[in-house]
Amino acid sequence: MSRVIYINGEFFAPEDAKISVYDHGLLYGDGVFEGLRVYNHKVFRLQEHLLRLEESARAIGLALPISLEQLTEDTNATVAKNEISDGYIRMIITRGSGPLGLDPFTCSNPQVIIIADKITLYPDSYYENGLELVTASTIRNHPAALSPRIKSLNYLNNILAKMEGLKAGCIEALMLNHKGEVAECTGDNIFIVKNGKLNTPPIEAGILEGITRNAVLELAREAGIPTTEAPMTRHDIYIADECFLTGSAAEVIPAVKLDGRAIGDGNVGPVTQQLNQAFRELVRQ
Ligand code: PMP
Repeated sequence: MSRVIYINGEFFAPEDAKISVYDHGLLYGDGVFEGLRVYNHKVFRLQEHLLRLEESARAIGLALPISLEQLTEDTNATVAKNEISDGYIRMIITRGSGPLGLDPFTCSNPQVIIIADKITLYPDSYYENGLELVTASTIRNHPAALSPRIKSLNYLNNILAKMEGLKAGCIEALMLNHKGEVAECTGDNIFIVKNGKLNTPPIEAGILEGITRNAVLELAREAGIPTTEAPMTRHDIYIADECFLTGSAAEVIPAVKLDGRAIGDGNVGPVTQQLNQAFRELVRQ
């Protein structure tokens, strides 16, 4: 099946799917995006992703050039045209092209791009045995500088932290906030389990409010697992019984080591397994 890429209401072959080099999305990272999953031909929590996209756009003063109803329709059409049963969607809204120079008000043609493709998953071994994390020295963007709640095209903050992780042999890295508290990982939210209770950093810690994070919080509450969204430090992870990450791409993935210290007994814990199972059932409903 050959791919087709959606740009502004039209479909193009990948080699013809092009936007201007003057687009401020490319020149300055001026734009917003979403990463979504398709399970059984259906986009998981599409409306939540579109609302987050709309809020990200609003936060950077970018008026979406398309209604959310139309975007819903066009996203589903892109999935259908690409015959994706299980896959990944990247949705991008750029500021559009304009003269060289930061001024966003000179850009009048925001580009709406939707790519639906297969997903490259982390190797199964990470899900079975858990992954290892290292704390990055690069801290998460200060919310007063660039709010981590905005899923912007400027991901350099996370990329710099990811580089540190990869150089230390870890596929994910832990990012702290400007107060030294745990924020999130470079592309995933983080949870710990201690004495049967689940905790994840609050939005105010300077994180992206993950759609998967919200789904897992709901599942935990439904399962009667006490759940909090409270600030935490690395120490809380060092002494936790279990730790796992959540994200649209990663889903629920156990983390069994941080900075060379085993978390709990260093194995994937029962609460992580339970929530992972519940999440897998939820996405296939
Ligand atoms: N934090 C960051 C920085 C991310 O990039 C992502 C992935 N979009 C997440 C958390 C997880 O969010 P979601 O569950 O909505 O994919």
